[in-house]
Amino acid sequence: MSSTPDLEQSRHLATALPGPRSQALAERQKAAVPAGVATTMPVYAARAAGGILEDVDGNRLIDLASGIAVTSVGAAHPRVVAAVQEQVAQFTHTSFMITPYEGYVAVAEQLDRTAPISGQTRTALFNSGAEAVENAVKVARSYTGKQAVAAFDHAYHGRTTLTMALTAKNMPYKHHFGPFAPEIYRVPGSYPLRDGLSGAEAAQHAISALEKQIGAENLAAVIMEPIQGEGGFIVPAEGFLPAVVEWCKANDVLFIADEVQSGVARTGSWFACEAEGVEPDLMTTAKGIAGGMPLSGVTGRAEVMDSVHPGGLGGTYGGNPVATAAALAVFEAIEDEDLLAKATRIEQVIREHFDQNADDRIAEVRGRGAMMAIELVEPGTREPDAALTAAVAAAVRATGVILLTCGTYGNVIRFLPPLTIGEDLLKEGLSEVTKALQSA
Ligand SMILES: *Cc1c(COP(=O)(O)O)cnc(C)c1O
Repeated sequence: MSSTPDLEQSRHLATALPGPRSQALAERQKAAVPAGVATTMPVYAARAAGGILEDVDGNRLIDLASGIAVTSVGAAHPRVVAAVQEQVAQFTHTSFMITPYEGYVAVAEQLDRTAPISGQTRTALFNSGAEAVENAVKVARSYTGKQAVAAFDHAYHGRTTLTMALTAKNMPYKHHFGPFAPEIYRVPGSYPLRDGLSGAEAAQHAISALEKQIGAENLAAVIMEPIQGEGGFIVPAEGFLPAVVEWCKANDVLFIADEVQSGVARTGSWFACEAEGVEPDLMTTAKGIAGGMPLSGVTGRAEVMDSVHPGGLGGTYGGNPVATAAALAVFEAIEDEDLLAKATRIEQVIREHFDQNADDRIAEVRGRGAMMAIELVEPGTREPDAALTAAVAAAVRATGVILLTCGTYGNVIRFLPPLTIGEDLLKEGLSEVTKALQSA
């Protein structure tokens, strides 16, 4: 089955961006939607598939964002569309907590099978990444009987009250929204470009903070993104993750891998933890799992997951049948189309592009698979250049390429294309980034 239905896979600008229809919709948005809900590109979507998003003015944009790493199989994968259509005609909802259905169990089985956790596992389903993180923390507290949770510098775990506390960056995520949930502690992570430490050295700093500032006897869990997402696509130095996980195991502290952004084939393996052979006790998933339908999961060791009393976990919509049907189709598409290999190929294309177009303002090209980034600095220094980053992103977007930035210092351009993007489209998008850098 083709992963790109009848939407032509080429960039096309029919108007300047945003076009007149988008502008009219933006006016309506301004009158109806609060300013706090901001948009990266005020271009209203009409259709999307493969590596292309078509807007309401007939512009076709190259998609290097996948709706924040969500539509990894494309935004209208035929398998997902068919599965959703079939399920929606049967029933839209019963609540799994009232009368269950097979799709929920099948997605749990699929996550149990693919999660990098040995032995028996269990999976509970929810709606969003933040909701999964909240539930992982609930499970960890219930199992350990302890309360404290440690998160790292540059972490992002969501925008709800508990997950805001876990998230590091103030603006825009936390500003004016305190007080934050108690018993959350922040410890140093590993940011090789900026701390210059080996994985073992950075882990020593983290472990020292865990021991001296919290104490293992108070600590329920350490939560970490195996590759930090919103914080700047930071890949910890080799050895950091295994050392932290080993300390957790030796000290009866649960390790939660937040794979919401890095999971489900994005980095070229099912989960990013696998790159260093790390086994979490609990793992959260969302974003790429259901082809754009809202779905998230907490997968963990059976003993840990089963420690919660009946009725302690749930939610009206968690594991909605339409979303679980989509997720099963996503898993099939990843296997059938060998999208793990495609993610690895995307990394190669991106690395080759920036090898051939080196620039002294690019401090680092980093990431794994189809979760790649460049960090921009003032030449000859490590001073973050957020102004350059914003200017380049704006210039690239104006050419009809959907591009995201990230990073604590706002100086990282990230590449999150759908895994089904055509290689020519990907290269075309990358060359716009290089052109914009050259003329900035
Ligand atoms: C996006 C994200 C979340 C939050 O997911 P939502 O679905 O937006 O609530 C949590 N953790 C990580 C690592 C994320 O990237």
